Amino acid sequence: MSSASVEDATVGSTRLERVREMLAEPSLDALIVAGAANLRYLTGFTSSDGGAVIAADGSARFLTDFRYQTQARQQVDPAFTQEIVAGELLEGLARALPPGRVGFDDVATSVHQLARLRELVGERVELVAAGGLIERLRAVKDAGELERIAAAAALVDGIYEWLVERGFGGRQERVVALELEHEMRLRGADAPSFGSIVASGAHGALPHAEPRDVAIERGTLVTVDIGALLDGYCSDCTRTFAVGEPTAQAREIYQLVLAAQLAGLDAVAPGLEGRAVDALARAVIEDAGYGECFGHGLGHGVGLEIHEAPRLARHGAEQVLRVGNVVTVEPGVYLPGTLGVRIEDLVVVEAEGARRFSHFTKELLVVE
Ligand code: ZN
Ligand code: ZN
Repeated sequence: MSSASVEDATVGSTRLERVREMLAEPSLDALIVAGAANLRYLTGFTSSDGGAVIAADGSARFLTDFRYQTQARQQVDPAFTQEIVAGELLEGLARALPPGRVGFDDVATSVHQLARLRELVGERVELVAAGGLIERLRAVKDAGELERIAAAAALVDGIYEWLVERGFGGRQERVVALELEHEMRLRGADAPSFGSIVASGAHGALPHAEPRDVAIERGTLVTVDIGALLDGYCSDCTRTFAVGEPTAQAREIYQLVLAAQLAGLDAVAPGLEGRAVDALARAVIEDAGYGECFGHGLGHGVGLEIHEAPRLARHGAEQVLRVGNVVTVEPGVYLPGTLGVRIEDLVVVEAEGARRFSHFTKELLVVE
């Protein structure tokens, strides 16, 4: 279940070193690290029931409670001194803070927790909002992470082959979703990386459709959006299939979305803002007159979490793509009451552009 934490001590200390460098810019004396993904990334610990304090002076401390004593000993990077907190974790964290300016994650910390922390540290510590620092580091993947994401994507490619062999016609969306998640686990996945989407016919026009107790009819399209969590890392891939012979309109929309998806893949390059990549793919759909039928962003970062930095979208995607970013490219066209098409690949940004992790065919497959 919980496989070896950080690949080796070098990875852990390199990441720690980068965090210390980041503390200089907002001039922080320390940073509180919390949340499952950030903790795992920095310390190797695979639960959210812990916290870490990384100080500018070079010390790094990890705190958890009695239940995780053994797990922490096995997983946490030796660069961290470990402490088992008897009472409230927040109290332990407060005690571990050096005096001065300390950054906390203002995105993940609740108002309640912040008030309690303020009460505990008093005048000794100035708490400074510093959310997103670790997320910025996590956005650039190292070789070990890329390998894991590629493996999670390959597992899903295999699931698509398996699905196509079994066919969709007459089967209930919810049953298809359950069975494919079961098959994923049999093939080694820890879990699906999000609730699987199997949406046929007019239901396919809902980008985040919940699978229904409804049989998939022949003569419709079915959109399948799935991902696997493998060794801590997520994958994400969407394909749309024709169940029986598709209508002329379905074929036309499919080819349009595919053209936009290929344009998006083509556009991915280091140095480009996420919103510029989004715009290049979106233009294909807009030029065909379906701009208002593509209401979501082009893509998102994927890693320890299914949605992370950077984003490819119209808004809030000023972040420039960098070599080592892993993003999805997933345009869609949704015709309410009629049909929906989405095609999604997972890619890594390299110096020459996008390298795909998803390899399952994007030709419109007509399946049973
Ligand atoms: Zn997806
Ligand atoms: Zn996605």
